[in-house]
Amino acid sequence: MGAMNLILFLTLLLIIVLILIIISIRTLTIQRKFKKQANSVTKEQSNKYINYDSEEPINILTGAIKYKTISYKDPSLTDWKEFDKFHDYLKESFPLTFEKLSYPCDSPNNLIFKFEGQDKSVKPLLLIAHQDVVPANEAGWDTPPFEGIKKDGYLYGRGSFDVKILVISILQSFEELLRKNEKPARTVFSAFGCDEESSGDNGATKISEQFEKEGINFEMVLDEGGAVAEDYIKGIDKPITAIGIAEKGYLDLKLTRVKNGGHSSTPNFPTAMGEIASAIEKIEKNQMKPRITKPIKDLIHNLGLSAPFGMGVLFLNQGLTSPIIKKAFSGGQTTSALIRTTITPTMMSGSNAANIIAKESWALLNCRVLPGDSDEVIIKYIKKIINNDNIKITVVNYKEPSPISTINTEAWNTLKNTIKRTFPDSITTSFLMMGGTDAKHYHNVCDNIYRFEPCQMNQSEIAKMHNDNERMSFDNIHNATKFYLDLITTF
Ligand SMILES: [Zn+2]
Repeated sequence: MGAMNLILFLTLLLIIVLILIIISIRTLTIQRKFKKQANSVTKEQSNKYINYDSEEPINILTGAIKYKTISYKDPSLTDWKEFDKFHDYLKESFPLTFEKLSYPCDSPNNLIFKFEGQDKSVKPLLLIAHQDVVPANEAGWDTPPFEGIKKDGYLYGRGSFDVKILVISILQSFEELLRKNEKPARTVFSAFGCDEESSGDNGATKISEQFEKEGINFEMVLDEGGAVAEDYIKGIDKPITAIGIAEKGYLDLKLTRVKNGGHSSTPNFPTAMGEIASAIEKIEKNQMKPRITKPIKDLIHNLGLSAPFGMGVLFLNQGLTSPIIKKAFSGGQTTSALIRTTITPTMMSGSNAANIIAKESWALLNCRVLPGDSDEVIIKYIKKIINNDNIKITVVNYKEPSPISTINTEAWNTLKNTIKRTFPDSITTSFLMMGGTDAKHYHNVCDNIYRFEPCQMNQSEIAKMHNDNERMSFDNIHNATKFYLDLITTF
């Protein structure tokens, strides 16, 4: 090594050491400041309903499970009488709310309520949830899915988690305040759509159109979405409250190849099926490039605040470390989906006999679209990757990603503080939803749209959603009611 090279090497080394020292000090300072702020939460900031322990919401939710309010993509398959019966049950369970707060709804099977607030000069709050549930395969369940079985501190049944719990807790908090002759701080609307699980076309879409027609604009819309998640990430012992501020889009693409078929005893390769298979292989091996969107940038930063030092350095200095983060996240199934549009083959076809070469072969790609991407961007990318002009690409179904709600708003701060009062140990952060919710239909009437289910649970509980043995703990049914009571009376 020549003298010049040695000087260059030492200078470089010095720069690297200096950068490491600077980001280490920066990390420690940010983490210390966060700890100090977290400790300054005082007693008077606790939820005034924190000791609310009425058995009512548990019992009413147990009854609500019995109504098979299953929605199907084809609405003619849905048993709408079940919704009528469900409404009668709610009316019987919340008589004051139905008598005093029912609001005319111009679409069938949906419900709207309006609770006049003390301050009429400010924009109202809208709490939403859906009445419908997904079907249940009884064979996989330990208890019948539509009976509502209480066992070991849990309520088992379809909808106990997703999301009859929210319908019941919102109505319970209204009923409770009416009984006490109390009023919300600002006017509160609530709306319960009938078909979130299948499309939202006849539920949330119609309700939001009605609000728009009536000229009602909301300060905040709160829907299901994130939760207070325990054991979210290894090394961080506090629960993470993830609030969805955007959701990925949904795209189904069909790849089709048509060419000569023939008898399988005298094949001519590649076959249409072979070309489709080869395209799928290329797509699986070349997923779209990672990109850190605003909600995920916030998530990483907020996790960094409570992370052990090494992870803190990585997460709190994204300006320098984002290439490493992208690489690390790309290695995990869930984390990879947070930072890219995913393209997943889910269906494909061949011929209908063992000895016939298919004339036409097709495959379906289900894509979950990151905010900032679109159907056009994805099709262009797939064309480049498969590099086969004979394969036709058509859009079967497309719902674009939702806009991203901002978080430096009064609504966000109120929500964050209310969560802190009900779940004092948790760290709140924004988040990008992988799946869809009704919330995306309300951007015509509100800018501040957040997605959060006020329940605390670990990953294995979260995995029970849409699954066999769906359940909700009694503690969480209480948590949800406490949370809404607090939010309604303070926001
Ligand atoms: Zn849901």
